[in-house]
Amino acid sequence: MIRWGMVLIAALLMAAPARADDRVSVVASFSILGDFVRNVGGNRVEVSTLVGPNGDAHVYTPSPADAKTIADARLVVVNGLGLEGWLPRLVQSSGGKATIVTATKGIKVREADADDDHGHGGGDHAHDHGKTDPHAWQSLPNAKIYVANIRDALIAADPAGAATYRANAEAYLAKLDALDRDVRAAVASIPAPRRKVISTHEAFGYFADAYGIAFIAPQGVSTESEASARDVASIITQIRKEKVPAVFLENISDPRLMQRISAETGAKIGGTLYSDSLTPENGDAPTYIDMVRHNIKTLTGALSS
Ligand SMILES: [Zn+2]
Repeated sequence: MIRWGMVLIAALLMAAPARADDRVSVVASFSILGDFVRNVGGNRVEVSTLVGPNGDAHVYTPSPADAKTIADARLVVVNGLGLEGWLPRLVQSSGGKATIVTATKGIKVREADADDDHGHGGGDHAHDHGKTDPHAWQSLPNAKIYVANIRDALIAADPAGAATYRANAEAYLAKLDALDRDVRAAVASIPAPRRKVISTHEAFGYFADAYGIAFIAPQGVSTESEASARDVASIITQIRKEKVPAVFLENISDPRLMQRISAETGAKIGGTLYSDSLTPENGDAPTYIDMVRHNIKTLTGALSS
């Protein structure tokens, strides 16, 4: 009886699928990176995300639970380029031995827009000019670099899963290629003079550079500092002068500024764009691919006619 029992237990243990504690624990700093890691890691990884759906990674305040999460992690995947200013201290205080993976490694960095279109706010005003733009994920070619970096980091951390990570990444990269073609086709359907929009903060610079839609924003590449009254006034002038057709809300930003600009200029509110964060499962953008599809549909819907 006892012997049969032990054989049975041994058989059960050998047949058991990878348990949660066998998986590679990965912490992603914000929701978009978490989605990339899930796509590449599949069921070999356990992913936690610090800044969750609809959260703003620019101004996040970490909790003691976050330090614990990082302390237990094998990999911490970050965007870098100045997005997560709160992260180095968190990593240090966690005392963990996780490898930090910078997903933007190798990306051609974009600087924040020079302030030649709208007025300066004055000497003590915090400016973004000369700052690095962290929103590199907004172009599909860049997203592919993120995915390749995450794949390579997972292979280094868990060589036994190399074939799985390569296959998952290849399948996901093919989806991103298809999405890139769809975005280009969608932009081509918008009349060229109408390819200009207003968004709350300067989060679409890489998208603008890749796809040829001009984005103007009263707030800079971070949400840390508010738009100045002068920047808002000069944007209102610019909308009227250049007949910008639409302004867009963001899921991470207060809608009131855009509502006011819309009311003062007559530019319509074209909908909500997802710049820095995914939505919960039941929202418009629960995954990165959903986010890009939603954004391009919203842009073409507002700008095509
Ligand atoms: Zn942002």
